Amino acid sequence: MAKQIAFYVEQKFCVGCKTCQVACKDKHDLKVGQLYRRVSETAGGGFEIKGATVIPAVYAFWTSISCNHCGQPVCVENCPVGAVQKQAADGIVYIDQEKCVGCRKCVKSCPYGAPQYNRETRKTGKCDFCRDELAAGKPPVCVAACPLRALDYGPLNVLQRKYGKANETKGLPAGGQTQPALVIAPHRDAL
Ligand code: SF4
Ligand code: SF4
Repeated sequence: MAKQIAFYVEQKFCVGCKTCQVACKDKHDLKVGQLYRRVSETAGGGFEIKGATVIPAVYAFWTSISCNHCGQPVCVENCPVGAVQKQAADGIVYIDQEKCVGCRKCVKSCPYGAPQYNRETRKTGKCDFCRDELAAGKPPVCVAACPLRALDYGPLNVLQRKYGKANETKGLPAGGQTQPALVIAPHRDAL
């Protein structure tokens, strides 16, 4: 493989506006309930009482995640008809809509909940890293849309050199399961 393309998430910059999620949904014309990129909130904490004073100690952060175009993609392994494929040139994992029979084995096997079954077409789709945008020399629409520049993309080894090798954060599966092509700078409250 020439290189593995990957996403980067700078969690502390994300304000949960979901612009990335909406941009992706718009580009792929996704139906209600379908998300190829999803932004979820994690919140917690409590309060301390000191005398007559109530001191809040709460936290909240957001996680923006799509398919991670994994190094060990269980979706590819589990598809019985070879519809889920990993591109040799850049490691992008995509679903060939002509071949997909809608059995949902990829949906059940992906620990990130990335593949989305479409009841109308009876096929499954997911993030393809905006292959058409990349071919036109443009970034994926989620990266381009983020007003806080919380998302980035590039070759995995370049992102790792720049940002480190973390590929998991609170609320996400352990990175060792599928070797996600993801670099993430966890929020301070996710450590
Ligand atoms: S995140 Fe899920 S769908 Fe995407 S490559 Fe990994 S296992 Fe497959
Ligand atoms: S657009 Fe950027 S700031 Fe908004 S939810 Fe997505 S990653 Fe977070």
